[in-house]
Amino acid sequence: KPDPTGIDYYQFNDLLKPDEIEIRNRAKSFVKNEMSKVNLNSYYEKAEFPTELLPKLKQLNWVGAGMTGYGCSSLSAVKVGLLSMELSKCSADISTFFGILLNISMLPIYNNGSEEQKQKYLPKMSSMELIGAFGLTEPQAGSDASGLYCEATKVEGGWILNGEKRWIGNAPMADVIIIWARNSETKQVNGFIVDKGTVGMSVEKMENKISLRSVQNGHIYLKNCFVGEGQRLPLAKDFQSGPGASLFLTRIVASWIALGIASNAYSKCLEYCQNRKQFQSPLSQFQLTQERLVRMLANLQAMSLMCLRISHLYDSKKLTFGQVGMLKAFCTSKGREITQLSRELLGGNGLVTDFEVAKNFVDMEAVHTFEGTYDINTLITGREITKSSAFSVNK
Ligand code: FAD
Repeated sequence: KPDPTGIDYYQFNDLLKPDEIEIRNRAKSFVKNEMSKVNLNSYYEKAEFPTELLPKLKQLNWVGAGMTGYGCSSLSAVKVGLLSMELSKCSADISTFFGILLNISMLPIYNNGSEEQKQKYLPKMSSMELIGAFGLTEPQAGSDASGLYCEATKVEGGWILNGEKRWIGNAPMADVIIIWARNSETKQVNGFIVDKGTVGMSVEKMENKISLRSVQNGHIYLKNCFVGEGQRLPLAKDFQSGPGASLFLTRIVASWIALGIASNAYSKCLEYCQNRKQFQSPLSQFQLTQERLVRMLANLQAMSLMCLRISHLYDSKKLTFGQVGMLKAFCTSKGREITQLSRELLGGNGLVTDFEVAKNFVDMEAVHTFEGTYDINTLITGREITKSSAFSVNK
C-alpha cells in the first residue's frame, strides 16, 4: 500500500534489490535502537559531537563506501545513499559525519595514494581508529576551489605547506587531514596527508554555526608545515585527478541526505497538521494546507527517483559531472522548499528544536551550501549541456 508519510508513497522499495532493502532496514533499526537513545538535541544545542555514539557507529562496518580492500565496506552508492537518508531522518549531523566526511577523507588516499599510504591509513580509517578530514576550502577560495592559494614548496626530503583552510568538517577531532595545496613549481593542485600534531599545523574549531551544529568544522593554519615526501599523494596531479575525483560520490550522498532531512520534515508536518486544530478543524482539512502537503510529497518522490537513478549510474561507472551536479542542485533546492513549507505549517512550533522541523530547516541550509552550492552545481551541468562555461565573467 502507498505509505503517504514519505518516499514510500510510490512504493520505493519495489525498486530496490533485497540486500538494499536489508541495509535500509538496518539503518532504520540503528536509528530506532541506538540513535534515538542518545540526547542528540542536547549535543546539537551545545554544538558538540555525540562521541558516545562512535563505538556503536564503528560496529556497523559501513565506512569506506565505493572502495574495495583495506577493510573498506565497499558499499555501493545506492547502499551508502539509503543508509545516509535513513540516518538523516534522525540526525543530519551523524549522516554527514558518517556518509560524507569519513568517506571523503579516505577517497583521496584510495584514488591518489601509493600502496604504502593505502596500507598505512585506509584499514585504520575504515575501522574508525583514525578519523579523517578533507581540506579543500579556504577563506579566499570557496566555490572557486580550483583557484586555491595554499602553497606546497619542494624542499629536501619533503614539502613545506603554507596557507589556511576554512570550514573543514571533522578537522578539530581529526587524526589525519588531507590538505590540497598548489605546487609552487608546476602551479597544479597536489594533495598531502597531514597527521594530527604535525609541527606547523594548528586547528581552531569554528564557533557560532547555526546549521549542522554537531558537525565540528575547523579553520586550519599551515605555517611552514613540513611533511615528508611519503605524505604526498603521488597520483593527485591536478584539481580534476585530485580533489575533483572524490566529489562524485559525496555529492550523491549529500543529495540522499537532503532527501532524508526533507522526508523527516514532511512526515512530522503531516502528523502535526492532522492533530493541530484552528478554526475548529485540523490544519490538514484546509485546501491551502493540502496543496502544500501534496507539493512536498511530489517533490520527495522526484528526489528519491533521481537519487536512485544517479546512484545506479555511479555504480555502473557511467556518471558525468553534469548529471551529478543537477542531482545535487535539484535535491537541495527542492529539499529547501520542503523544509521551509514544513516549518511554516508548524507555525511558532516550527521555530523550536523540540519539534525537529526547525532543525531540519536550518540543517538543509548547510547541505545546500557544501559539496558545491546550488549555483556551482547548476553551472557544472550548464557547462556540460551547453558546452559553454559560465563560471567566470573574465573568460
Ligand atoms: P562562496 O564561494 O563565497 O559563495 C557565496 C555565494 O556566491 C554562493 O551562493 C555561491 O553559490 C555564489 N557564487 C560563487 N561563485 C559563483 C558563480 N561563479 N556564479 C554564481 N554564483 C556564484 N569544505 C571542505 O573543503 N571540506 C569540508 O569538509 C567542508 N565541510 C563543510 C561543512 C559545512 C557545514 C559547510 C557549510 C561548508 C563546508 N565546506 C567544506 C565548505 C563548502 O564547500 C563551501 O562553504 C562552499 O563550497 C561554498 O564556498 P563559500 O562558503 O566560500 O561561499
